[in-house]
Amino acid sequence: MNLSRRSFFQLALLSGLAPRLWGSSPAVAKRRVRVLSRKRRTVDPWIEISKDALRHNTQQVSRLAGGRPILAVVKNNAYGLGLENASSILAKFPEIGGFAAVKASSCLKLREKGISKPVLLMGLTPNEHGIELIRHDIQLSAYTPDAVERLTPLARKAGKPASVHFYLDTGMGRMGMPYRKALPWMKTVASSPLISVEGTFMAFTEDQEFDLEQLERFKDLLGKAQSDRVPTGRIHAASSNGLYHLPEAHFDMVRPGIALFGAYPSRPDEERGKAALIPAFSLKTSVVRVARLEKGDSVSYGRNYIAEKPTWVATLSIGHGDGYARKAVDGAEVLIGDKLYPVIGAVSASHTLVEVGDDKTVDVGDTATLIGPEHPAIHPNNFADTVGVSVYDVLMHMNPDLDRVVI
Ligand SMILES: *Cc1c(COP(=O)(O)O)cnc(C)c1O
Repeated sequence: MNLSRRSFFQLALLSGLAPRLWGSSPAVAKRRVRVLSRKRRTVDPWIEISKDALRHNTQQVSRLAGGRPILAVVKNNAYGLGLENASSILAKFPEIGGFAAVKASSCLKLREKGISKPVLLMGLTPNEHGIELIRHDIQLSAYTPDAVERLTPLARKAGKPASVHFYLDTGMGRMGMPYRKALPWMKTVASSPLISVEGTFMAFTEDQEFDLEQLERFKDLLGKAQSDRVPTGRIHAASSNGLYHLPEAHFDMVRPGIALFGAYPSRPDEERGKAALIPAFSLKTSVVRVARLEKGDSVSYGRNYIAEKPTWVATLSIGHGDGYARKAVDGAEVLIGDKLYPVIGAVSASHTLVEVGDDKTVDVGDTATLIGPEHPAIHPNNFADTVGVSVYDVLMHMNPDLDRVVI
């Protein structure tokens, strides 16, 4: 394909011309990188990851689980914290027995980062990555009727057996082999010499009553498998909700995600009483404009906010494209310095507005914290409740491209 004139110039700009245009020698460029990493100089939003909070949450989870190993779920970019950062920190904690993710690429990335603990792929094994996954000792989920036909050719080509966990559907109806059909299928899969069964698991619907029914179905099936001498490996079922509310479902290990990252799964007040967590991330950005409004002046798209009296407003360089919820206008506040300011107008793709009030207490360049442990009002669970979104969305929608800084 021919390069168009325009893309040629863009390439030239990127490769060689740009440093000359910016007038920076290699030495200057190097210094700039160092300054940036030591102290932030950019105005773009970023996420701070707290090692201490991750350690604290891991210990709390471990205590709730009676010391059972933790299979840490790091799907969706480790719930927005950043897969590589969060997993490298968690991997050092002795309570973490392994990792689970839904995408093959995430599992492989953990190995690339040098993480040697067990890793479970909870999604379908893609044919094109199958051999690589087996060679890297990624444990695979078996749940399709054709699991043997799918996995044994890959194992043969990889030159070693595929380690699998039976993924059983006890009523979630999303993934897993339906429990009514599972027993004969488990026998067939387990009898393959190219498949080694390392575990068996299920997921709860997190409907308080139905969870108990699911648990009975699971235990019944496990009992039958045991009497038929079908290997089941290590048994796991409880995500963060089950960790807090279903101790009968802790089995051989627990499988939480969100609790490790410091948010409560279902009933924050009750859960805080059982084990208090600390949000392990802060979503931050900078104030990029401060302006005075006169009575009747409006801000943002749709003129959603009109000043009833003269007041100061500040614009923050973060928007829904960065993962800050549009619904933040429905009552969320932002911490700047030690004061909270209400979000007003509209959260647009790259900007959010807050009302500062009568006095100009905010300056361009100030740091604004939108979600984090710094104040109860911006705790992820409070933010989620205030604006009416799921706390899972609050974490997982943080844009993967934002800078992550480990503190
Ligand atoms: C996401 C997920 C988990 C972790 O759930 P949390 O509620 O974040 O603890 C566990 N198991 C499966 C199958 C999942 O998809």
